[in-house]
Amino acid sequence: MRSLMWFRSDLRIHDNEALYKATQNQQTIALFIVSHKEWEKHHDAKLKLAFMWRNLQILQKSLESKNIPLKIIEVEYWSETPELINQFMIDHQISSLYFNHEVGINEIERDRAIYRKLKKNNFNVYHYHDKTLVKLGSILNGENQPYKVFTAFKKRLIEVLEHQSFENYSDIPIQDTTELISDDIAINPYQTLDDLTYKAGEDAAFEIFQGFLKEEIFNYHNHRDIPIINGTSRLSAYLALGIVSVKALLREALVLNEGSLRGGNEGILTWINELFWREFYYHIMWNFPKVSKNRAFQEKTEKIQWLDNEVDFEAWKNGATGVPIVDAFMRQLKETGWMHNRGRMITAMFLTKNLLIDWRKGEAWFMQNLIDGDFAANNGGWQWSASTGTDAVPYFRVFNPITQAERFDPDGDFIRQWCPELSHLDSKQIHKVQKNAIVDLKSSRIRAIETFKNLS
Ligand SMILES: Cc1cc2nc3c(=O)[nH]c(=O)nc-3n(C[C@H](O)[C@H](O)[C@H](O)COP(=O)(O)OP(=O)(O)OC[C@H]3O[C@@H](n4cnc5c(N)ncnc54)[C@H](O)[C@@H]3O)c2cc1C
Repeated sequence: MRSLMWFRSDLRIHDNEALYKATQNQQTIALFIVSHKEWEKHHDAKLKLAFMWRNLQILQKSLESKNIPLKIIEVEYWSETPELINQFMIDHQISSLYFNHEVGINEIERDRAIYRKLKKNNFNVYHYHDKTLVKLGSILNGENQPYKVFTAFKKRLIEVLEHQSFENYSDIPIQDTTELISDDIAINPYQTLDDLTYKAGEDAAFEIFQGFLKEEIFNYHNHRDIPIINGTSRLSAYLALGIVSVKALLREALVLNEGSLRGGNEGILTWINELFWREFYYHIMWNFPKVSKNRAFQEKTEKIQWLDNEVDFEAWKNGATGVPIVDAFMRQLKETGWMHNRGRMITAMFLTKNLLIDWRKGEAWFMQNLIDGDFAANNGGWQWSASTGTDAVPYFRVFNPITQAERFDPDGDFIRQWCPELSHLDSKQIHKVQKNAIVDLKSSRIRAIETFKNLS
């Protein structure tokens, strides 16, 4: 009998636990399910989908080098998948299904339905926690409850990681040839929107990572907040689609830091800390599914009367608020599909506090535009900035975008790059709010604080 490896957001052959297990002593067929409607429903950016497709093409070639054919099934909605996979397994004499977990509520429900259906029909189903450093739901406090605060979560995570070894699941055996051939995916349905500056494939991701490990990681703690410097890894688009394994990244970073998660090089430790934030939000989403149902983590913040001002929202989206640093970052997002982390915090805070617009609208806009759109990190970042999430920024700590700009873009070069109409201004003037600004920073800050204060 054969095994079926269902690829989802783990489009790689190295360090892929489900693939590795599926290919041990079994003839394997690989599967990818296309659902344009589900991706649209989840606001996935076209840029991200185009990139995903290019990665799928490379994955297909890698699989073929192991004699594993990649088959494609297209569905309208996930609800069709249990029946289709069941039939696919019957048609191709497959006895076992393998996949790595995804964390969105729709994906979890889809997988549960498939599990029930296949089990009922006596198929085997094997699933793995490969999207995160440790098993989802396994980081618990003394009362066996999930952590809601990052520092406590991180402390426990480090303890667990110090006793965990990362197997390298990369040695995929070459299979006997079969009569089955891969489906044709040469035409990328999202091609017209593609940005070829992002090189696709595992090799490209590793090359980027190796470059980062050579130099920038050592300065990461100093450079990570300066948007004009290319001081971060730029691996997020690869992590979101699983082109690279987070476990492999940590393993390599640890080698460089002589195995330490607590001491050693400050740059490396600070970077690992960001992988822990990613881990934290994945675990939050797994343990508290309400966050993937469009709900605030802090119930009381559901009472906020957000302002429904479409004109302000449009100005924010288009980088035309009259607040230079906000506009620079919003244009960076629109034009490149990526935004620096400092910018994501500044613009999210500006939307939810100064404009008092619902974080869910900003969250969706980011997903629609980000090449690295990742539900857990995006939702976590938005709920952090909006003070609606777990361990979020306190509502009274509203960032002042002008002081943020003076601190993190002191010469104004980043603003000059994205707002050329301001490039004639000197490094002092360039940060100032423009005459046509859509909001007064001082009074809107007070309005936001009052709105949150009145909740309890
Ligand atoms: C409002 C908001 C929305 C965000 N949306 C996303 C998103 O959709 N997808 C996404 O991958 N990240 C998101 N982030 C987190 C962060 O901004 C990006 O991961 C980071 O900018 C990506 O650049 P990099 O790969 O160079 O990161 P690096 O600084 O090199 O960090 C390495 C990796 O750690 C993870 N990471 C870093 N910072 C965070 C963080 N604050 N939270 C969770 N994970 C983190 C990412 O996987 C990243 O690739 C968001 C943050 C905010 C505040």
